Parts: sequence; C-alpha cells; structure tokens
Amino acid sequence: MKTPNSSGDEFLIPLFRGSKVDVFTTCRGEINNSGDPYSGFSLCNYTGDAEEHVDACRRMLADRLGVDASGIVVPRQTHGSRCETVCGPAGQDADLYGVDALVTSGAGVVIGINTADCLPVVLVDDVRGVAGVAHAGWRGALAGVVQETVRKMLCLGAELDAVEAFMGPCICTGCFEVGDEVSSRFPTANVRCFGKPHVDLAGYVRDRLLDSGVSVIHLPRECTRCNPTKYYSARAMGIASGRNLTFAVVKKKS
Ligand SMILES: [Zn+2]
Repeated sequence: MKTPNSSGDEFLIPLFRGSKVDVFTTCRGEINNSGDPYSGFSLCNYTGDAEEHVDACRRMLADRLGVDASGIVVPRQTHGSRCETVCGPAGQDADLYGVDALVTSGAGVVIGINTADCLPVVLVDDVRGVAGVAHAGWRGALAGVVQETVRKMLCLGAELDAVEAFMGPCICTGCFEVGDEVSSRFPTANVRCFGKPHVDLAGYVRDRLLDSGVSVIHLPRECTRCNPTKYYSARAMGIASGRNLTFAVVKKKS
C-alpha cells in the first residue's frame, strides 16, 4: 500500500502565500516503506510508478486545493527549454510532451513540475496574478529554460520589478558531483572542486535570473539528495522513483 495518508498536510510545504498566487512544493510525506522508491506522495506518471497510485495522489491534492483533478497541469518534461502558456484546466496533459516550463494567468489554474534533484523554480507576479514554473536540471538550465519562462511571463503581463522567484528542494553543491564534460559547460563561478568537480545548480540559475532582471530570489531550503526519506532523489534512489511536485496556484477571483 503506497498511497500516502490522506489525513494530514504532511506532504504539502508552502513556499509563498500571496494575494493572487500561492506556491507549494511537496515532500514524500508519510511513507509506508522507505525501501520503495515510489512510497509517498508523487504525481509523476512517467517514471515507472503505478497508475493507481499517481491517480490517488492527484485526487488527494485536488481535494486539498479545492480544484478538479484535471485542473492540475503538469507537462511531460524532457530536460529542454520549451515553455507553454496554460489558459485553463487542460484535462490530461497530452499536448505537453517535451515541455519543461509553464506559465499562466488563469484564475483557478494549478501549474506544476516534477523533480527529483533537478531544480524547480516558481516565478510569481502576485500583483497581476501571473505565475510560471520551470524544471531546471543542468541541461534545461544551460538551455535557458528559466529565462524563457521569465520571457513568457512578461508576455502575459507580468512586470519584472514585481516578479519573485521561489526555488524548491534540489540537489546541493556538495552532492552534485559531475564529470568534466558537464562542469566545463558551466561558468567557473558556479563550479566547486572537492576532489571532483561539483556544480552549484541553484547558484547558476540564480545568476541567470539576475541577468533576466529578477532580483528577489529565494534559494532552496533543503537538498533532495541529503534527505531521501523526505524528498525523492534520483541520485539516492535511481531514476525509477517518485518525483517531488512544485507548483503555483492562481487563485479564483473572489
Ligand atoms: Zn546534498
């Protein structure tokens, strides 16, 4: 039995509560079997999890947020830089293959991305009710997924001086050992050497956000790899595992 306990908020972690947009990330919550890489809350339907478990988690989150389960829009990510605009609840996410970021200004819309060590970034203009989410692993980060998300938010009417960035849990520099073929693609300012090279992924994305004109940036509070019983971590558990969901809720107009 892998479905998390539906009695508490233990899988939901608020990152921001605004007047028009709320931001959350998830942790695994109650896990029934720490050796099961899917035990706990996960909404990812393409990394080997059982369909009924993912569906149960999606329904549980929808109940908690007070939205229809089909209104939670999550793309089929592929480590690229494509960002799509979501106008309203999308039903199943069939049209979102190869998409690694979403933006929306639709009231009642929930947009999220799945990660397990990669960096989830949520961008919010809470004055205008515009939100964006981006999946920034090292490939997507280098491909410019976060800059593309900022650009699409501005197309929806967001103003740069009102945009704040919230980073969810991701792999820390100490855990993110890479080969020279990866580290050589990053600026030296974002690479540390502890015997082997390590990339500061959140630092790299912070610098790209600053380049894009976003100056209020909340860095990750915790490392996924350091906390594998709390968060899913592909490095700790293998890629055949659940995923942490980081998402924005644009509130319905009251
Ligand atoms: Zn770590």
